Amino acid sequence: MAGETGRHRRDVAAAPHYHVIAENQEGELICSDGFTWPGAQGFAADLISPPAGAPVYEPVQTVWIVQGEPLRCPLAHGDNLPDDEQAAPGFLERVVQQQPYWSA
Ligand SMILES: [Zn+2]
Repeated sequence: MAGETGRHRRDVAAAPHYHVIAENQEGELICSDGFTWPGAQGFAADLISPPAGAPVYEPVQTVWIVQGEPLRCPLAHGDNLPDDEQAAPGFLERVVQQQPYWSA
């Protein structure tokens, strides 16, 4: 395990994280929690093509994977800050102008 020393000490909040944003067939945006890149890809894959036995998500028509703000991310992290609720719509507005990760 050489080379692992200290890696777990890294500040998790400062590491890159990603959110999966999906638009359902009603045009509503669904935001995931923060994930690592592989976690975000896995979550997106489940949304796009739910595996048998997985929790059933509603059908989506577009999926984006975006990097969260490293320091002050307005999207859901279980903290429910009022400031975040005000900042999130602007963040999402920019997200949906980006090239989608997947589109139906
Ligand atoms: Zn975030």
